[in-house]
Parts: sequence; structure tokens; C-alpha cells
Amino acid sequence: MSNLIVQKFGGSSVANPQRIKVAARRIAKYKKKGYQIVVVVSAIGDQTDELIGLMEQISKNPPSREMDMLMATGEQVSVALLAAAIHEAGLEVISFTGAQVGIITDKSHTKARILDINADRIHEELKKGKIVIVAGFQGVTLDQDITTLGRGGSDMTAVALAKALKAKVCEIYTDVDGVYTADPRIVKDARKLDGLSYEEMLELASLGAQVMQARSMEVAKKFNVPIHVRSSFTNKQGTIISKEVKAMEDVLVSGVTANKNEAKVTICGVPDKPGIAAKIFSELAKEEINIDMIIQNISRTGATDLSFTVMGTDLKRTLVVSEKISKGVGGEGVTYDKDIAKVSVVGIGMRSHVGVAAKMFTALASRGINIGMISTSEIKISCVIKKKRADEAVKLIHKAFGLGKGGRK
Ligand code: ADP
Ligand code: ASP
Ligand code: MG
Repeated sequence: MSNLIVQKFGGSSVANPQRIKVAARRIAKYKKKGYQIVVVVSAIGDQTDELIGLMEQISKNPPSREMDMLMATGEQVSVALLAAAIHEAGLEVISFTGAQVGIITDKSHTKARILDINADRIHEELKKGKIVIVAGFQGVTLDQDITTLGRGGSDMTAVALAKALKAKVCEIYTDVDGVYTADPRIVKDARKLDGLSYEEMLELASLGAQVMQARSMEVAKKFNVPIHVRSSFTNKQGTIISKEVKAMEDVLVSGVTANKNEAKVTICGVPDKPGIAAKIFSELAKEEINIDMIIQNISRTGATDLSFTVMGTDLKRTLVVSEKISKGVGGEGVTYDKDIAKVSVVGIGMRSHVGVAAKMFTALASRGINIGMISTSEIKISCVIKKKRADEAVKLIHKAFGLGKGGRK
């Protein structure tokens, strides 16, 4: 069994010099226990947001290559500071950028995918007894251009390295004790989950629980990388994310989420005939716009409204394409609504239980929260509601499923 562990520290865990020293002490403690350690670090605090804000003052539409060039600097700062803190503690350590440790990605700037990791340099340094620190969130193309892996992408670096190095565990140190039944900042009596399946964490993350990057969970699931999400401020056991175990199915719902970053677009009065939906969604796909929920009503007059949701950041582009499509198919124009939120419940137990949707809808109805759209899958139900009622809805649903007390341990 490997004695190598990957430890990832998020932005809040290295937000100031004091916290960097605390992280260094934890790393040193594990090293002294005899583990080989590879550390992945995010940019300090909100530095990535600050860098993006800086760029916005220069350009509303910067080249994505330059965006990556800029954003990747954040992690270069934190690796150097953390390495120096570990050095102060008297241990041997070396820091690297993503490019230096051969994290090769495709060319999709700002959302690049890792193609390969050449871990020779890491192995070499580990063999010398050093602690290796790697900048999260970044890689390099075969043409030597710097790329980033999407927001929250240090999780991806950590999971991908854990896989490549066959680590015993990938520890994700953050500012909460683990994965909770809902965002503990919104729901005060949210409970920490001891265990969770990859599939559930993937859904929770895709639906708005930012504690793990969704894409990193796809990789963890595919390669069975054991994940431990835990606090960087305490020594408490956190949440283990692993393959589904039988007991997990006994629990109806594991978590409730809200995503406030989507927008609803409606193409009005489109002809109700075969091929129209295919045309509309092919055009949107060509522009690489991801569609989430889709709703189309029956038509009484030969024309119908078609609504769908997209990421808020894709709204402008979506409207341009939709206007064009609407004209092309003889529609009556396009409307949009940014004032929406998607609230969801997730749980693998839903596969074998009935009544989950009814319970969720009843909870929303109890306070007169109107549902605009609904979508379901085997392990989740999502409803689109007004954005300003999102937090209230999460609390109501959390309570309706008894997640606060006496629920899953
Ligand atoms: P880091 O900087 O360590 O990467 P993030 O800010 O990305 O941390 O993720 C941690 C935050 O995720 C928490 O502070 C918490 O508010 C939020 N969060 C949202 N949903 C959940 C959830 N279900 N369980 C735990 N944390 C959640
Ligand atoms: N610093 C990057 C971000 O803010 C990556 C990360 O924190 O995981 O998105
Ligand atoms: Mg994060």
C-alpha cells in the first residue's frame, strides 16, 4: 500500500501568513509520521477573483490565453510562500508550477482538461525525501501555453495527481469540517456527512455545492480516488467520498443545494413541428453553450414557447444565438429571466424510494414558492424558483426531509 498522500489546501486555508504557517505545521506533522507528501495549493484568499477584477478594468472581452496567463500567477505566489514556511519548520521542500511537473492539458483556455501528467520530477524529489508542493488550477499545453482548469480547479489538480501517483488518499483541506447536508452558511443546522458516494458529490457539486469542483469528481469517480474533505483548522475526521456502499441506499436524500448562477431563456411562438428543437439546440451546441433544463409546452395554436436554462456567464451569447434562431424559424422573439435559482435535492436512495418529489413540492408550496421548471434524474430533483427565495427554499426543503437532526450519519 502506498504511503503517499496528496494534501490540497484551498484559498481560505492559506488566506494569510498565519494560516500558511498552520498549513505548514500540519504538512510537517504528516511528513514526520513517515508519509511521502505532495501538496496542492490554491491562490491565497480571493486572489483569483481580484485578478479577474483587474482584467475587467482593462478589457470586457480579454483573450482567454491572457486570462490564463494572469490567473495562473495566483497559485505561483502561494506555492512559494508555503514552501518557505515549511523550510522554516526545518524540512526539505520544493515548489513547482503545473508546467514544471508536466501537467499537460488541451488548449481550452480557462477550462482546460488534463491529458497527461508526467510525474517523473515529482518522484525524483520525493525520493530525495522532499515534500513536493504543486501549484493548483494550472497546466500547460504541448505548445507551452499556460492553461487553467476552471474555477475551483485546484481540486482537479489534487485528484489528478492522487490518481497519477497512486496516492493512499487525497485530502481536501477547506474552511468547513466536510461536506454538509446543505451549505452551512445558509442552513445553520446543516449536518456534516461522514460518507458520500462519488455520484452524489458529483451531483451536489454540479448543482451548486462549491465545496468540491464538479469536474474533479468525475475523475475521482472514474479512477476510484479516495477523497477526504476536512477542515484545515481542526483535526476532526471530515467526509469520506468513495464508491457507493450498500448502506448509502437506505438514506433518501443526502443534501440540498441552490444554484443562483443560471438564467432562463424563452424563444416565443416557435412552430410546433418536427425538427425545430433539433435545429435550435444544434445551433446552441455549435456555440459551445451548455443547456441545462428544457421545457416545452403543448401548442394549441400551432406555435409554442420553448424555455431553457444556461449558465449566467453564457447568457449574452445565448441571447445573440437565440434571436438569430427565432428569426430563422419564424418565432415571435426571445425573452430572458436572470432572477432565477435552481434548488435541488440529491440522494442515491431516491432510486428505490417514491414520494421525494411530492415532499419537495409540498415544502415549497407551504410558503407559496412558485415552481417555474422541474427536472429529475435517478438521484436528483431540481426546481427553478425566484432567486430571492432560494435560501428560504433550501431551509424549507432541508427541514422537510429531516436532514438537520436524526437523519443520515
Ligand atoms: P476552498 O477555498 O477551500 O476551495 P470553497 O470556498 O471552494 O473552499 O468551498 C468551501 C465552501 O463551500 C464552504 O465555505 C461552504 O460555504 C461552501 N459549501 C456549499 N455547499 C456546501 C456543502 N454542502 N457542504 C459544505 N460546504 C458547502
Ligand atoms: N484559485 C482558483 C479559483 O479561485 C482555483 C481554486 O481555488 O481551486 O478558482
Ligand atoms: Mg474550492
